[in-house]
Parts: sequence; structure tokens; C-alpha cells
Amino acid sequence: MKNLYGFTKDELEHYFVSIGEKKYKATQVFEWLYIHNEQNIWNFSNIKKDVLIKMLTEFTTDFIKIEKVLKGPDVKKFLFRLLDGEKIEAVLMEHNYGLSVCVSSQVGCNMGCRFCESGRLKKVRNLDAYEIVEQILLIQNYIKKKVNSVVIMGIGEPFDNYDNIIKFIKIINDAKGLAIGARHITVSTCGLIPKIYEFSNLDLQVNLAISLHGATDEVRNKIMPVNKVYNIDKLIIAIRDYIAKTNRRVTIEYVMLNMVNDRKSDALALIRLLKGMNVYVNLIPYNETENIGFSKSNKERIDQFYNCLKSEGLNVTVRREFGGNIKAACGQLRSESE
Ligand code: SAH
Repeated sequence: MKNLYGFTKDELEHYFVSIGEKKYKATQVFEWLYIHNEQNIWNFSNIKKDVLIKMLTEFTTDFIKIEKVLKGPDVKKFLFRLLDGEKIEAVLMEHNYGLSVCVSSQVGCNMGCRFCESGRLKKVRNLDAYEIVEQILLIQNYIKKKVNSVVIMGIGEPFDNYDNIIKFIKIINDAKGLAIGARHITVSTCGLIPKIYEFSNLDLQVNLAISLHGATDEVRNKIMPVNKVYNIDKLIIAIRDYIAKTNRRVTIEYVMLNMVNDRKSDALALIRLLKGMNVYVNLIPYNETENIGFSKSNKERIDQFYNCLKSEGLNVTVRREFGGNIKAACGQLRSESE
């Protein structure tokens, strides 16, 4: 049996056609699931009983469970237990412009970024699309409010679970689904180049963020093993191609690690790399975790780095810090509960 929350409307249309029914039933199902928030297939009252019986033999609507919620002033962190007992996390952040949720894409991660807690626990498996959709539904039910934006920046490498991520995006973006605008959805990758090319051909209008974190192969090799397969030159070519094809600005994430990538020479290398590109650099204060030997750049070093980029005309911001005190950094909560 397949979970209904993992189906795009197109896929459901195919299903209904395949059992000799009209396509528009897919829209009705979406309205029940996402607009009326009805989980029980039996209660889909505008669909005939014999069709519902068929559906009940094909689909479940089981939910993952909230295991724990940690609350900070403007952030809530959710630990979820999946149906097979695995654990993942999501974070709800309250910005002045609305509510955003950061979802996980995999159980664990194989990318092995040295500073990241998620990678300490290797990938166990990919998340199915329904397990990503349900993170958002459960949070909405919990807070009794609608979420405005979604970032795929929790545990996992989304482009290592590409097909499920694309389905997830289509489901939450659907006007009859959660109707979250494409411009309010961001997918973040450590740089799996073939998938960046694939993504650029999709025409989804979703935001793309790249975890760069180093401006030379020397620095990036030390902290991100993925760079040994997809190095900076090839990555920049892929990003340029994406910008040319989509005409969209790309976010460059750069986590500030003390004395590792935050020196003046790093800033200058970053400027050389990005100058003239339609990108926006987001400097991320590192969220220190007990188990890993990296420390965060202090405020002065971040300011100097920021000013250096700014003075050369780069678009740059420093990310606001959320939830450090409640273990909201990537993978920390799950890692602690294992
Ligand atoms: N795998 C994807 C998405 C998940 S990580 C990616 O690499 O982009 C989301 C972002 O958080 C990445 O930029 C990641 O490098 C960063 N990150 C990981 N651990 C962090 C920490 N302890 N403090 C700050 N940022 C961290």
C-alpha cells in the first residue's frame, strides 16, 4: 500500500483514469487532504463508495508521529518518529514576514560535511515524498496556522533524493494542495552537479541555494568531501548555466568557520569567484555542536568578511540565528536521541 500524501495531482489523475474514472477526482482528493485536512478516505463524501473502496485497497493515509517539540522564543523544533521507527527533524521559524518550515529530506546523510551533525549518522534511507509532506501538515495542525514558506535544509541532501523532492515540491506547490508559492520554496544542495542541471530544466520557479562554504578547492576539500567529486570550477559552471536558463538569482550559503574559511584571503577568493554573477551570499553563523571540532567565527570576523564582500558590490546578508539554544542546528536533535 502506498501513502496518499506522497502522490502528486498528476499521478492521481493517472490513477483515476487507470481505474476508469474521471481525472477531476484527483482534484477532489487533493481538496480533501489539503484544504479540508481530512485524513479518513471514507469521509471523502463527494466520491462514490465503490471508488472509495478501491482507493482503500490501494492507499493508506498513515501519519508519521511527533515525538518531541522543543520551544524557543521564535522557533520550534520537531522531532518526528517515522512509521519504521526512524527519526527526523523539522524546524518552524517565525519571521516578521511569516512562518517558515525547514524540512528533512533523508534519514541521515552521506555527504559527510565535516562541520555538520547530520553527516555523523550516515544515511539510513531516503524519505518518501509523503514523509516530507507530513512534516508540514503535522506542524500546521500543531500550531493551527498555515505555513508561508518552506526550505529543504534539514537533515539530508535533497538532490541525493531527487525524485521524491520534486514530487514533494509539486504537492505543496499545487493550488489545490498546500498552495505554497514556488518563490516561497527553497531547495539547498551541497553541489550534486548532474542534479543541478536536471533541476534547471524543470521550470519550477523554486529557489535554489548552494552550500559553498569555501572559495577554493583547498578549503572546500577539507570541509566538504563532495568537492573531490564535483569541484568548485565545475560547480560554478553549473550555477552559471542554471542562472542563464532560469534567469533566477541563486543563493550562495557560506557557513562561517573560525580560521577555516573566514580569513581575508577567503573573502577575496569568494569575490573573484562570484563577482558579476546573479547571486546572493548568505553568511551563516556556525552553530557549534559538542561533537565536532569547529568553532564559530566571532562577530568581528563575520563583520569584516561581510564588509569585504559588500565593498566589492556583492549582495550579501548575515543569516539571523535561530534556535541555537534548543539544538536546532542541522541534525542535532536526532543525533542526540540516537
Ligand atoms: N544537504 C543540503 C541541505 C541541508 S544542510 C546542503 O548541504 O545544502 C543546510 C545548510 O546548513 C547547509 O548549508 C549546511 O552546510 C549548513 N549547516 C550544517 N551544519 C551547520 C551548523 N552546525 N551550523 C550552521 N550551518 C550548518
